[in-house]
Parts: sequence; C-alpha cells; structure tokens
Amino acid sequence: MAFIEIDSNSKMKVPDNPTIGLIEGDGIGPDISKTAVRVLNSAIEMAYTGKVSIEWQKIVAGDEAFETTGKHLPQESLDLLKKCIISIKGPLTTPIGEGFRSLNVTMRQYFDLYANVRPVRYFPGVPSPVKEPEKVNMVIFRENTEDLYAGIEWRYNSDEAKRLRWYLGENFGVKLPDDAGIGIKPISKFKSTRLVRKAIQYAIQEHRKSVTLVHKGNIMKYTEGAFKEWGYEVAKEEFRDYTVTEDEYNASPGTASWKVVIKDRITDNMFQQVLTRTSDYDVIATTNLNGDYLSDAIAAQVGGLGIAPGANIGDVYAIFEAVHGTAPKYAGMDIANPTSLILSGSMMLRHIGWTEASDIIESAVAECYREQKVTQDLARILNVKSLKCSEFGEEVIKRMKNPSS
Ligand code: NAD
Repeated sequence: MAFIEIDSNSKMKVPDNPTIGLIEGDGIGPDISKTAVRVLNSAIEMAYTGKVSIEWQKIVAGDEAFETTGKHLPQESLDLLKKCIISIKGPLTTPIGEGFRSLNVTMRQYFDLYANVRPVRYFPGVPSPVKEPEKVNMVIFRENTEDLYAGIEWRYNSDEAKRLRWYLGENFGVKLPDDAGIGIKPISKFKSTRLVRKAIQYAIQEHRKSVTLVHKGNIMKYTEGAFKEWGYEVAKEEFRDYTVTEDEYNASPGTASWKVVIKDRITDNMFQQVLTRTSDYDVIATTNLNGDYLSDAIAAQVGGLGIAPGANIGDVYAIFEAVHGTAPKYAGMDIANPTSLILSGSMMLRHIGWTEASDIIESAVAECYREQKVTQDLARILNVKSLKCSEFGEEVIKRMKNPSS
C-alpha cells in the first residue's frame, strides 16, 4: 500500500498507486460508489495507460459500521481516513436521536476540513428551472467549522439559557425574553482568513475571474461584517500581485483585467444576483450558514443536487462526497443517479494533480447529458428512456476520449 504524504512544505506527494479511502455510504451509497469507482478507474486507465492507478481502501461508516461494530463511525475508520489523507464518500444516514451528531459534521471537525467546496456548472441537456442555466459556472467555498453550526445553543427553558439571559442583562444591559432559546454565532479572524485564502488560491490557480465575499455584514457587523473585512485584508496582504478590488477594477477595467477581482455582496442581494446577473459571479467565499443556503440555491439553477459534486478540504486532509442524501427508497435498486459522486471523484483526481483523467470524465458526463442518456430522476422529466445507475456509468465510459490521442 502506498499512501499519499504531505511534506514539510505542506505539499502533497502522490505515489503512482495511491491508496484512497472509500466510504460507500448508506442507502443508494453502494450503488453509486460501485459505478463511480468503475468510471474513475476507466478514466485513469485511459489517461495514463496503466502507469498510475488507485488502490481503493474500503472504510466502513454509517449503518454498515453500526451493524458490525455498534458505532456509526468507529475509531478504526477514523484512523484509516487519516492514513489515506484523501478519501471519497457516498451519503451517510444521520442517526436519529439525542446525543447523535451528524457523521459528516464529526468528520469535518475531526479532520479540520474547513472548506466545503462546491463547483456548480451546467451540463446542456439537464432540465433546469431557469432560462439561461449555461451562465452558471461558480465554485462556492463555504466555511465549514464555525458560525451557527458550531453547535453552541441552549433550549429556551434550560438552566444554561436562564443563566446566560441573566448574565447578559446584568453585565451588558441586554434584555431578552424569558422564553428565548439562545444560539451563539462565532466568526473568527483565523478561520475566515484561511477560508478566503483557499478561495483566492483556487481562483488564481484555475484562472478564474473573481472571488465574491458573501456576507450579511450590514446587520451582523462583528461577525459577517468582519468576515468581509478579513477577506479583503488577506487578498491585499497575501495576494496583492494577483488581485484587485472591484473599486480598483472599475477605476481602470482594462489594465487590471488579468487579475482576480475581489468583491463583496450582501447575502440577500446575492440570492437575486445569481439569478439576474449570473455571469458576474465565479468563485464565492462565504460563511457557513450563508454557504449552506446559497450552494443549494445555485445548484438548483442547473438541475439540482443529484448532479452537483462537493468536497470538504482542509490544509492536510480532504474528503470528496456526493452532496445529496441516501435516498433510501432507491437503495439497492441500481436506479439512483451517480453523477454527483462521479463528479466528486473527478474533483478528487484534479486535487491530486491527475487533471487529464478528470477532464476525460467531465467531457464524457457532459456528452451523456447532451445525448439525454440519463437515470430515472431526470428521464421522467425529460420523458426519455431511463438508464440504471450502472448503465449510466457504462455510457459515460463509452464516451471517454483521450484528448491527446
Ligand atoms: P436525499 O438527498 O436523500 O433525498 C432528497 C430527494 O432527492 C429524494 O426524493 C431522493 O429520492 C432524491 N435523490 C437524492 N439523491 C438522488 C440520486 N443520486 N438519484 C436520484 N434521486 C436522488 O435527502 P433526505 O431524504 O433529506 O435525506 C435522507 C438521508 O440522507 C437522511 O438520513 C439525511 O440525514 C442523509 N443525508 C446525508 C447527506 C450526506 O451524507 N452528505 C446529505 C444529505 C442528507
């Protein structure tokens, strides 16, 4: 087994046959994982003719892990994810009941996967609710570890909420209703800065046009507003040669056009802008709650979550994932749409530097959609014959072309 390593300069060293973690997931997870692995292996074989390949390391989590170990996310699985550094996962059921945390949230925190990255682009042929879905080509960087998701909240009648209401009244003159539940929204400089840094690095690397900082700073000045300020600060201090602010750009549009434009928008305005001025937006960096809402809304513009890929990325570890859930009613029927996981796998290949294989997959998936070779979720809308999950994978493989041959 050859594991990916991170050297002392935080650079990833990828062996020719890296071991990559694979959590198949619950519900439709095993079906879509099987298909995605076949597609990924085929693209790698085509791009590199056997010189490199992935050794898939199965890692149990969710229902399967619970049945065999009594835990949804056993320590052994966490250890394996750690060893692999890079992993891919199908959807996992969130265990129901007090005391259970979402397994996804647990993994994000355990491995400090602070950036939730969601590229959203349109594949012609996919049914969309908007007139010009082809204008959508955005990558959302959502902060993944703080904000209202930090889980700091108390029920309205808890002792903690009572004490906090009393404390705020006594010390800050803040009078809250006696029946108010309380949640806390921490937004820190360190975590905001590293998220925006990652978004800007990506924009520079991928030659994107702009990074938009999305915030609700007009109302929440010291959390959302501070996120915006820190975002501009990191752009100026660390990427001055590669970025301009929108004001600078507007003052001399021609001269600065090769740089990444850093701009900001207030969240409610941004929800309109992505619909009305779609092509003005490219990379988006935002806080956790904004990002949660915005990424699903933007994904809906191009045909929904079934096809959108995602990844949770930190400075060392990364877990690529299908963004939809376990769709339990389709479990084991081989009819779910595997596109989200296939494209997440493609993002993963790009992340480890295997861009040729990633390009092959993305072109072949686009070709399938153009020809309306689709699974039942989209076939019934398009009124065309539906493919099984595994058949969709085969159709993708058939359409793979090596651009260099
Ligand atoms: P869901 O995404 O599973 O389903 C929503 C709708 O979309 C359903 O109609 C479903 O059939 C359909 N759908 C989803 N993915 C599809 C696919 N690939 N192909 C075809 N149809 C698809 O959301 P839900 O019903 O709210 O959640 C079910 C379970 O999944 C819950 O336990 C939830 O906690 C979990 N979940 C996990 C993740 C994750 O692991 N990343 C994300 C969301 C939900």
